[in-house]
Amino acid sequence: MLLTNGRISTMDAAGSVVDTLVVRDGRVAFAGRRGDVNPPAGEPVVDLRGRAVLPGLVDGHAHLMHLARARLSLDATGQRSEEAVAARVAAAARAARPGDWLSGRGWDQNLWPGKAFPGKASLDRAAPRNPVALTRIDGHATWANSAALAAAGIERHTHDPSGGIIARDGRGEPTGLLIDTAQRLVHAVLPHPSEERFDQAVREAIAECLAKGLTGIHEMGADRWALAAYRRLIERGQFPFRNYAALALHSEAAWAEQRERGPEVVADGRLVVGAVKLWLDGALGSRGAALHSPYCDAPDSTGLLLVPPDELARVAAEAAGRGFQVCVHAIGDRANTLTLDAFERALPGHAPRDHRARVEHAQILTGGDVARFRALGVLPSMQATHCTSDMEWAEERLGADRLRFAYAWRSLLATGVVIAGGSDFPVEDANPFLGIYASVARRPRSGEDRGWQPEQRMTREEAVRSFTSWNAYAAFQERELGSLEPGKRADLVVLSDDVFTCPESRIKDIGPVLTMVGGDIVFRAEPAAP
Ligand SMILES: [Zn+2]
Repeated sequence: MLLTNGRISTMDAAGSVVDTLVVRDGRVAFAGRRGDVNPPAGEPVVDLRGRAVLPGLVDGHAHLMHLARARLSLDATGQRSEEAVAARVAAAARAARPGDWLSGRGWDQNLWPGKAFPGKASLDRAAPRNPVALTRIDGHATWANSAALAAAGIERHTHDPSGGIIARDGRGEPTGLLIDTAQRLVHAVLPHPSEERFDQAVREAIAECLAKGLTGIHEMGADRWALAAYRRLIERGQFPFRNYAALALHSEAAWAEQRERGPEVVADGRLVVGAVKLWLDGALGSRGAALHSPYCDAPDSTGLLLVPPDELARVAAEAAGRGFQVCVHAIGDRANTLTLDAFERALPGHAPRDHRARVEHAQILTGGDVARFRALGVLPSMQATHCTSDMEWAEERLGADRLRFAYAWRSLLATGVVIAGGSDFPVEDANPFLGIYASVARRPRSGEDRGWQPEQRMTREEAVRSFTSWNAYAAFQERELGSLEPGKRADLVVLSDDVFTCPESRIKDIGPVLTMVGGDIVFRAEPAAP
């Protein structure tokens, strides 16, 4: 296939822009000027009509299985009060049979009047005969009703699990709020959807990604159940996408199985199980992020460690020794210090020098830790839209001083590291152009203010690289993906506007008119497609 008459930003090292690509056998065979190629007669020709083309965008931190699960459950995203969410639950309960579980996700008490955490009473009124479990937007807290607490065996005498909190009222009764590892008590009894329903939901989630310009993701914490679904879909030819998956190390059983199999490449790279994901702390919104000093708005709390740092170092060394890339969730400054300490102790001698261990989020850093990423060969994996979502309330949690090295893209880039860019969907929207916009504008989607900590903004080239070539590097895939050069896979997007030349405020409105994965056209916008 010949694609010509475009403004094709190859994102090669030199940043070359060409007008013509030849795609053959799923790979780029030529990238250059139309006059320099003579395709055999009969090859299909796509006239790009001057449109901009980028390598396929890859989300460096995403949750495909959660996006699929979200399609099968109640969506509380953007609801403006506890009562509004409860009203949705009540409607779902009327349609359900007594005893059926009602699950959902997306609530965010920071959007509500008073910003207080919700409790079980409102859900008990909304759904007296159904267990209800609603995950917070960030995945780090679950709001349950009394029936769900009972099903999980949670009562006033239940101890907080290590790395978790069962929130309690003044009399010691669980309130219905479960933070970090305490959520697993409920998740363990929450029924799985059927394979058929889940597989269909995964296909729909992939279609959503392709329509937003993503050709792949790094799934930061896939469970065995989801990986099995992806394998089924790949076998049936129903997985037009690339997933570089990190196995979620929530359980010893999951790890024991994958440890024996080692890293895996399934079906020509559609699925690569190349990494493991560990969680050291929680999230800022639920005050689970582990801080060196107490929260400004909760002076008796410094957050949560989900695993002891020694255990983190032990598992990281073992996983790296088995050939897995190690990715650790760390949001708070204490969690980041401890993760870098663990990498420093665990990886030399166990991993190849080029281990590319990753800190997922790397959200709040001390000034002293900024330079350690480069020194240790560790990559920060960051989500620009978290910054623009959190900027309204992050200072309440952290105070002004600690914001200096929060979401500190420019400070990190200045040390010579590259940043893997992502969205953490479904925590944020999967649309990568919202992430690119947040990276360069550091403004919320709606806001026209001057932008937050503008000195930390990325350039447009850096922002695009964080979703293309830098993400390929962050997954050891720079020989296959990340730029449109001969020999690499033909994953690309033809776009509605040029991200490098359009007015800044328009970047967030860009979308694909055509998405190609491995030389196959997998999405076409109608009727604007070339
Ligand atoms: Zn995540």
